[in-house]
Amino acid sequence: MIDLRSDTLTRPTEAMRAAMARAEVGDDVYSEDPTVLALEERVADLFGHEAALFTPTGSMANVLAVRTVVGVGQEVLCESSAHIARAELGAHGAFTGLTMRTWTHPRGQVDLAQVEGLFAPDMGPFFVPTAAVSVECTHNFAGGAVLPIDDLRSLRAWADTVGTSIHLDGARIWNAHVATGTPLRQYGAVADVVAVCLSKGLGAPVGSLVIGSQAAIDESRVWRKRMGGGMRQVGILAAAGLHALDRHVERLADDHAHARLLAEAVGVDPAAVDTNIVVVERDDAPAFVNAAAEQGVRVAMVGPRAVRLVTHLDVSRADAERAAAVLSRLATPGG
Ligand SMILES: *Cc1c(COP(=O)(O)O)cnc(C)c1O
Repeated sequence: MIDLRSDTLTRPTEAMRAAMARAEVGDDVYSEDPTVLALEERVADLFGHEAALFTPTGSMANVLAVRTVVGVGQEVLCESSAHIARAELGAHGAFTGLTMRTWTHPRGQVDLAQVEGLFAPDMGPFFVPTAAVSVECTHNFAGGAVLPIDDLRSLRAWADTVGTSIHLDGARIWNAHVATGTPLRQYGAVADVVAVCLSKGLGAPVGSLVIGSQAAIDESRVWRKRMGGGMRQVGILAAAGLHALDRHVERLADDHAHARLLAEAVGVDPAAVDTNIVVVERDDAPAFVNAAAEQGVRVAMVGPRAVRLVTHLDVSRADAERAAAVLSRLATPGG
């Protein structure tokens, strides 16, 4: 089976398992796990922020991050297919008591004119005030699309003039960094608070981080525990993250090349594939998914007519070529 459903499906390599086994550990609720502390420090520095906090999932990292800039009865603006809006099961409403309003862009991009139109200043007891804008880079359901750094800088400049915050859902920011060469610090500089995942393309079994000011991270540490996310000797997991940062970032370029190969096979313009995700619109999506599985290639439905293919650490060049052959036969009428 070649599994293209998600880049979360990777299993730790032997070298990663060895690094995990060797990890020095302590009780992280006491902030005494040296490996977790090293990971937090390293990631904060990569993004040019003061501090970072290790969390079990990206969803928890997003909830903690967003709640540092949006309070009860306030709103966050985001693109309509953002992960925080579509795929976190209402966590931000349930735990933070915020609301969301959305703009729509077929490639998940920032549309500053729409954002400006949605923005609501605090006018007292009339309208829900906008406290933050959330952007997702790369954008998962928009097919791994990169948000150009210049667009993010324009958003930052506008946000500063109106006094609103920016949250960056950077679950796959590593892919954007490798695809564009934009330093991670430049992404860090446009956001007040960032969430990143180690368990997607980087291939760690678990782990995400919230990144921001010391105050935001101190507050997030309290809320992480409150939400049941205080973990103990998790240096064994942080070690996987450190290993991934050393070994699995630059190789994301291979995943991107494999994704372009798959795009071609299913009739998507490879030039429109920025990173490791291909979303193909198919009227026969359920049948297509089943037929692919019967031929040893697992792909995912992400909408009634949307099929997603994701390349990752466990998909070799040979796997990608074999999957492309299978999918291209299925995608070609009469094939
Ligand atoms: C995967 C993902 C997350 C976090 O998901 P978890 O499954 O909770 O780790 C957040 N944002 C985006 C864009 C993602 O793709």
